[in-house]
Amino acid sequence: MCGIFAIWSKKINVAEATYFGLFSLQHRGQESAGISVTNGQEIHTVKELGLVSQVFTKESLLNLNGFAAVGHTRYSTTGSVTIHNAQPFIANFHGDPISIAHNGNLINTETLRAQCQEKGYIFKGTSDTEVIAALLEQSSNHNLEEAILEMMGVIKGAYSLVIMGLNKIIALRDPLGIRPLVIGTIADGYVIASEDCALSVVAAKRQRDVLPGELFVIDENGTHTRMSLQGNLGRSGFCSFEYIYFARPDSVFNGKSLYSIRVKMGRNLFREHPVEADAVISVPDSGTPAAIGFSKESGIEFAEGLIKNRYIGRTFIQPDQLLRDVGVKLKLNPIIDALKGKKIVIVDDSIVRGTTSKKIVKLLRESGAKEVHFRVSAPMVMNPCFYGIDTASKNELIAANKSLSEIQDELNVDSIGYLSMEGLLNAIHLPKDSMCLACFNGEYPIEVSNSLKKSKYLFDNNC
Ligand code: AMP
Ligand code: SF4
Repeated sequence: MCGIFAIWSKKINVAEATYFGLFSLQHRGQESAGISVTNGQEIHTVKELGLVSQVFTKESLLNLNGFAAVGHTRYSTTGSVTIHNAQPFIANFHGDPISIAHNGNLINTETLRAQCQEKGYIFKGTSDTEVIAALLEQSSNHNLEEAILEMMGVIKGAYSLVIMGLNKIIALRDPLGIRPLVIGTIADGYVIASEDCALSVVAAKRQRDVLPGELFVIDENGTHTRMSLQGNLGRSGFCSFEYIYFARPDSVFNGKSLYSIRVKMGRNLFREHPVEADAVISVPDSGTPAAIGFSKESGIEFAEGLIKNRYIGRTFIQPDQLLRDVGVKLKLNPIIDALKGKKIVIVDDSIVRGTTSKKIVKLLRESGAKEVHFRVSAPMVMNPCFYGIDTASKNELIAANKSLSEIQDELNVDSIGYLSMEGLLNAIHLPKDSMCLACFNGEYPIEVSNSLKKSKYLFDNNC
């Protein structure tokens, strides 16, 4: 996923604003965080592995002075979790520094990497963002905008990017607009962010999305827009999983509140898979809006059956056999009074591998639930994602390998129901060909090479 934030302002402390922006985008990636700031002469960067709150100190932010900044929170897809893959990525563009923040995943990384290596580029990390850096470094074009437009002609896949030069911020999206990127205004300047929850945290006003295939440029002269030659593909391919799970419910995409869309998904889910029960509970927090919708539509009371520990970070201790369920209990705790002796409907936004869902059902049964009915507010995840989301390889996806009744048995539930594709599209209220739905229907909007497909069909190469 990854979260991107950028700001241009001479009135505001840009490093601080970026820090707050990244804070609200933490849900999009927890592996590393970084901020670059330009003062017109130099770009200074602080980046480290860890959460936003762990990476930056008051002192490190004080050293980041300037009028423009770009920040990044990383969730790893291509490339392992090392400091070399942390972003923003610093590159050299004809003698001047540039700082790159990327959300998405390129699907022709290997080919481009080999081509750049042949021309003498030495890679330090394994991320596809470094391929973008290498292509820009090797460009014969000395104009950054032109070099980026040229690069858009060769890179394939999902990319929402912010590239900052000494005196310029350039925000761009791939021609299908697979990952989000939004433009806001603030005081005397502009803000760019993956989601508008990051605009509201710094009191920026949402203007519009960066369009698929658009380059939105901010500099001394104001702003201007350019379209890539690949910009008009006759369709868009926004990731439907952003609506379902990735983005925060308080964000707005294509003019629609994600919270309301998720509530509608829950309503549709009940219509498609009705059940009689004493209470509807959610897997917090991602399943909650759909559970509320399910409750509203069914008239079954919504209850808090599971409490989420909101302060959990990453742990390096692997539980041993005796403590094997500690993982899920660290994150979720049952409320016995809400569950004991009751017929429970549990609503979650999606099932991917099925491993967490299985543990949650076990927890509900151990807490005395009389019946457990699982409802999922997305269709069955049948295919891997190549555009920036770790939805595992095909052999790990429970729905790709088991029938509905086998999944019911595997999870040990009394019934199970997934939202249909029609129910999903009805809730999002956008035409089918304006979105990517590949992990549900296998129709990849950008063709994926057989060798790349194979890697995800046989083993998981994500980190
Ligand atoms: P599982 O039962 O192991 O498939 O886990 C299902 C849970 O994973 C659901 O609560 C989803 O919200 C969550 N989920 C869905 N997609 C992802 C993803 N790409 N990364 C992490 N969690 C996810
Ligand atoms: Fe989103 Fe699924 Fe498409 Fe990946 S394959 S971009 S997760 S809809």
